[in-house]
Amino acid sequence: MKPGSILLEARNLTKHYPVRRGLVFRREVGPVRAVDGVSLDLKRGETLAIVGESGCGKSTLARLLLRLIEATSGSVTFDGTNLQALDREAMRGMRRRMQMIFQDPYASLNPRLSIRRILIEPMALHLKLSPSELEREMLSLLNVVGLQPFHADRYPHEFSGGQRQRIGIARALATKPDLVVCDEPVSALDVSIQAHVINLLEDLKRDFHLSYVFIAHDLAVVRHIADRIAVMYLGEIVEIGDKGDVTRAPRHPYTRALLAAVPHPEPGIRDAKPVLEGDLPSPLQQPAGCKFHPRCPFAVDRCKSERPALRPLPGGIEAACHRAEHLPAWQRYRAAPISAAITARQSAIANAAKAKVAADA
Ligand code: ADP
Ligand code: MG
Repeated sequence: MKPGSILLEARNLTKHYPVRRGLVFRREVGPVRAVDGVSLDLKRGETLAIVGESGCGKSTLARLLLRLIEATSGSVTFDGTNLQALDREAMRGMRRRMQMIFQDPYASLNPRLSIRRILIEPMALHLKLSPSELEREMLSLLNVVGLQPFHADRYPHEFSGGQRQRIGIARALATKPDLVVCDEPVSALDVSIQAHVINLLEDLKRDFHLSYVFIAHDLAVVRHIADRIAVMYLGEIVEIGDKGDVTRAPRHPYTRALLAAVPHPEPGIRDAKPVLEGDLPSPLQQPAGCKFHPRCPFAVDRCKSERPALRPLPGGIEAACHRAEHLPAWQRYRAAPISAAITARQSAIANAAKAKVAADA
């Protein structure tokens, strides 16, 4: 397995959910296009972040990538194997190598199982190990996520949110996966705990040679952990590129709006008015042309009728915007306060890491 080769490849993935209304006739009022033509590659050893507002299709995409749900169309290739071509049995075997960490550490652990069983069950299913080897592996997993051997006999409700997410991470690692899809793994946690969990995920990635798809809505977190960032809007990727390029010189007006929404870390400093206006349109009635045009300050007539394709722009970023070459320079907005905000968040994360090392010592 060469680092840098492609591990996961999605081509033109779509997921449409039928929506019915009415008590008697159950008319179909249209499909929700939760994911609408997404293509992406993930290299081995890479962290690809996916960001976007709630409801834009991130969790649906995560499930499609692992084939936890069936796509309406499109394909996913994992390590050279087309997942859609696998039968149930072969897919079950493949699952060992592709795991998920969920947003809600409360809902994702079975409350009736001890931590020992939560961790041993996936190992017993996928790995050929004796009972004593399973026990040893389970204790070692507890150790790598910062829990103690006595935690094995406890139940999920006896743990804090941060500890539960550590258990969720240990369970994802139990089958020795190559790919872990993290679906907003820290969104439900306190900010102070977020930093610990992110640092843990980074350490584990290195130690276990993992590749991550890391879903978030917090660009400051993503800036810290990602190699590349993909920005989603209403089921589509509207911008994708190296994290430095996307956060320093975003080309899509939506990415700019998301960056402008990163809160300023210093109390008392008010941010510039965000560029983004209006609400996310209903996924049932998606705008024609560029889906972002009703909220976009730069939209022209063409944007109302013609859907822009994701296309490479000078500098290495790909963006789906007719107007990408004609936008004012990003610095005119609030590049300085944003980078200050991100730097401050990063140093908060780094400080929390140091505090953790000091506490462990
Ligand atoms: P995100 O994770 O970005 O918040 P989701 O992928 O959960 O977004 O949802 C994307 C869209 O698809 C939303 O409009 C949501 O209501 C819809 N959706 C998700 N799952 C289903 C489902 N099982 N049936 C119908 N609609 C769904
Ligand atoms: Mg989600």
